[in-house]
Amino acid sequence: MKEGSGEDQNVAPSMYSHVSRPSSHRNKNARKGLPFNVMLVGESGLGRKTFLNTLCESAVITGSEVTNAEQAHIAEPMQFKNYTVEMDEDGMKIILNIIDTPGFGDGIDNEQCFMQIQEYLELQFDNVLAEENRIKRNTKFNDSRIHALLYFISPTGHSLREIDIELMKRLGSRANIIPVIGRSDSLTPRELVLFKQRIMSDIVTHSISVFNFPDLDDEDEDAVEENSELRAMLPFAVVGCEEVINEDGRPVRVRNYPWGVVQVDNDEHSDFDRLRYVLLNSHISDLRDRTQNELYEMYRTEKLSGNTSVLANNTSQAVISAIGA
Ligand code: GDP
Repeated sequence: MKEGSGEDQNVAPSMYSHVSRPSSHRNKNARKGLPFNVMLVGESGLGRKTFLNTLCESAVITGSEVTNAEQAHIAEPMQFKNYTVEMDEDGMKIILNIIDTPGFGDGIDNEQCFMQIQEYLELQFDNVLAEENRIKRNTKFNDSRIHALLYFISPTGHSLREIDIELMKRLGSRANIIPVIGRSDSLTPRELVLFKQRIMSDIVTHSISVFNFPDLDDEDEDAVEENSELRAMLPFAVVGCEEVINEDGRPVRVRNYPWGVVQVDNDEHSDFDRLRYVLLNSHISDLRDRTQNELYEMYRTEKLSGNTSVLANNTSQAVISAIGA
């Protein structure tokens, strides 16, 4: 862990980690570690930090970032904070780079935040483009392109807000956006189903391009079925926690309330474990490949033809057809 390292917690392993699954991500990088870059975007208080700690099964970010209570109401400019954690997923080493964006959406005018994130994503593409054009390649070049952008939606139970639509619409052609509902235990199961439907309907209406678990032209029926199941789950409803209890001798990650317990890794309580598995296991290759072969290639073409000002949104048709609009 390079930055933001904290004390390891005695956190329960994911339920999925006991299940043997196909390993689509295995490749020659397996031993030295497969780099995977994830950006977390969402307004303060939606559980980004807790999600990150839950994902990494350690206290990557500790404590509150509010240092002066008197100043706490003043919106700070958005920042990019980098955390690197080495993870072992089914015997596969993953170098997980997380870029958190505290301060996003906290001001009145969010234009600056949209621009900053867009510039950040494009700068990583520019670095690769510059590297490709060097006569002598740098063997230690660090590819920092973002492979997945998790966008945290507030659990309002209504529909997408202006800020959600604007951010996802602008950046859908620059990153694999995976929409997630933060603090989703605030909604009842019925409310959650309806909220998910409204969000996906908004995504279609506004032609937003999200990572849509493509309908594979594949002979692997399991993969086809898995993608179809994952499409139906979008957006993922996540719950994060810092607490572990002992249940029948087994450590379980929970949010503990006076009326009961929400188990983070229980599929009936939250989509967290499914999302974790998608990111670190089943779809890590797909997310990396799409970043390279579609998003980067599209940017490269735009850049070389001097047309980068228009953010193309031409991948949205796939998601529209996928959810039957
Ligand atoms: P951030 O500002 O988006 O990074 O949010 P934090 O992770 O700091 O969480 C803000 C508050 O929400 C804290 O009090 C967390 O304990 C709480 N929180 C985090 N995740 C969840 C969740 O899944 N459900 C609920 N109900 N609260 C959460």
